[in-house]
Amino acid sequence: MLKRVIAFGLMLMILLGCAAFAEEEIEFTLEDIVELEEVPVYGEVDWNFPVDLKDMDPVMIRLANKHCLLSKEDKPDPIMSMVSRKANKDGSNANGGVNKASGSKMQLQETCGLALVEMFEGALKDGIKLYLKSAYRSYQTQNTMYYNRLKKNHGKDDGWVSKPGASDHQTGLGCDIVSRSWRDKAMNRDFGKTDEAKWMAENAYRYGFILRYPSDKEEITEINFEPWHYRYVGIPVATYIKENGLCLEEFHEQLQAAIDEFIAAGGDPAIVDPYIQRSAE
Ligand SMILES: [Zn+2]
Repeated sequence: MLKRVIAFGLMLMILLGCAAFAEEEIEFTLEDIVELEEVPVYGEVDWNFPVDLKDMDPVMIRLANKHCLLSKEDKPDPIMSMVSRKANKDGSNANGGVNKASGSKMQLQETCGLALVEMFEGALKDGIKLYLKSAYRSYQTQNTMYYNRLKKNHGKDDGWVSKPGASDHQTGLGCDIVSRSWRDKAMNRDFGKTDEAKWMAENAYRYGFILRYPSDKEEITEINFEPWHYRYVGIPVATYIKENGLCLEEFHEQLQAAIDEFIAAGGDPAIVDPYIQRSAE
């Protein structure tokens, strides 16, 4: 009798288990429902811009310049560490190892850091060896650099060091990338003539990076040509910027026009709000 009860009990448990399992399969989980609701609904209003909203991450396209300042609190999240001489996702020192001369552990926003590793690997396949020279810089570090520069220049801002809050490096998405021979040199535009700079100018967009300060955009960026400074924005935006020969400031001008048009046509302002660039001051 006891055996029969146990057997029956076991059978019941198996049946209940199956039923629960079957039920689980057809039911939407809470995450599914949340995910469905997160898909942007533009309603009746068209989004008239070559890059779709879902292909732009507001964090990755964030503008930082002297007119659009970041706040003291703005820092990359999540952040990852990189080694000085070669970007490597696990921090290992393949192909050269950590640059002991500087000894610095560099950091980048994680999505950008992973894309940078891919770019360095892609370059290596073409025989191009790239080195990360400078990455994330905090508001405080930039502040110190700026005032040191002012002191050296007898109080005059010569435009070579960005004001605190205005540096692309504070986003954690800006990287100074050089060749082996330029690692320990002071940077100048001659770097643009190297094979490494030419390779990046041609291929960086495939990995989501743009040349942040192009030679023909100095009047717009208000920063001298920096053939070593690349900025992560994501592949769709980088491709659009590259194909149309824009700088990030021009991209945002176009994006803002599209946002204005969208709202004027009756589009929901909440949908486009995260893409509007606002200065911290
Ligand atoms: Zn830079």
